[in-house]
Amino acid sequence: MLKPILTEEQLKQINIWLSDCTHFVICAHLSPDGDAIGSSLGFASFLRSLGKEVTIVMPNQFPEFLHWMSGTDTILLADRDTEQVKEAFAAAEVICCLDFNDLSRIEELGEIARNSSADFWLIDHHLDPGDFSKVSVSFPNMSSTCEVVFRIIYQLGGFGTMTKEAAECIYCGMCTDTGGFTYNSNSSDIFFIISLLLEKGIDKDLIYRKIYNNYSANRVHLMGYVLYEKLQVLEDVHASYFTLDREELERFQYIKGDAEGLVNIPLTIKGMKLSISLREDLEKNRIWVSLRSVDDFPCNKMSEAFFNGGGHKNAAGGHLDCSMGEAIELVKKAIHEYKPLLLEKNSY
Ligand code: 5GP
Ligand code: MN
Repeated sequence: MLKPILTEEQLKQINIWLSDCTHFVICAHLSPDGDAIGSSLGFASFLRSLGKEVTIVMPNQFPEFLHWMSGTDTILLADRDTEQVKEAFAAAEVICCLDFNDLSRIEELGEIARNSSADFWLIDHHLDPGDFSKVSVSFPNMSSTCEVVFRIIYQLGGFGTMTKEAAECIYCGMCTDTGGFTYNSNSSDIFFIISLLLEKGIDKDLIYRKIYNNYSANRVHLMGYVLYEKLQVLEDVHASYFTLDREELERFQYIKGDAEGLVNIPLTIKGMKLSISLREDLEKNRIWVSLRSVDDFPCNKMSEAFFNGGGHKNAAGGHLDCSMGEAIELVKKAIHEYKPLLLEKNSY
């Protein structure tokens, strides 16, 4: 059995929304990942089964390897479908914020949302939820927003009518946010939920292939290039980093999502504790930072302190508005500052 996660007080407000409101908007974070898309589609399916009008909005495009999920073709993008998005937010009675903890994480879309008179319903698993929602269902210890969404649907009695397609979306986010159940995934509840999703007829092996064995040849070549030519391994401090500038990305005909997961690979080196990637934006003068770690090394703290970002203990992101040279210096400084933690013995 799954323990209920919604409090009596939250249930009261949610039941008011579910009985009195018709227009719901669901939005998730910038550069949406599997958890953002999966949780949004899974939750939309639940709300639609209750007869609600639901519009799903993302700040910008999501990677090609997530397009197989049922309903992705209905998702509006704020930077492409701006007028429709404004209309949806203006008509919204409830705005469901999934997989992010603060309106600042959705950039310009946050402004549009703030101007709406709708109530906010936060559903998330990032630390430090902002104080902007009427109901905040925030569980930083959970694997994914998809897990939180599943538990909400389950508690509200919506599991019976959950479709196979919605179950696939929820499984996808649980899978991607745990690296295919290789980190952040030791809770037995996760596997209980998976057993329920399997009862809906999902093919988890096929979903794995759709997520992880769905690359272009360019991406595989980019991966080889990064690992062979770009990876800087600082063996003495158990850390590594690599950079990708615009020219290199263009050389490998980079499309959104192609760099996804590359930052995880250096962690397969024995004893490696921290991996950082620096990727130049294709248009604006910005460098996107990704951090991954093992054990207790706090990527989120390092990102907050050095890279204008945050996230989870073992997976965080941020950005820098400077040259690649300056960004590399900052990475070296951050690694130096965290040297004592990096030198602590790994758990194996
Ligand atoms: P990624 O490296 O895949 O971009 O991000 C890894 C994790 O860190 C994701 O869970 C993402 O939500 C979070 N994250 C990425 N960028 C930021 C940021 O700028 N601020 C915060 N708070 N979290 C971030
Ligand atoms: Mn997530």
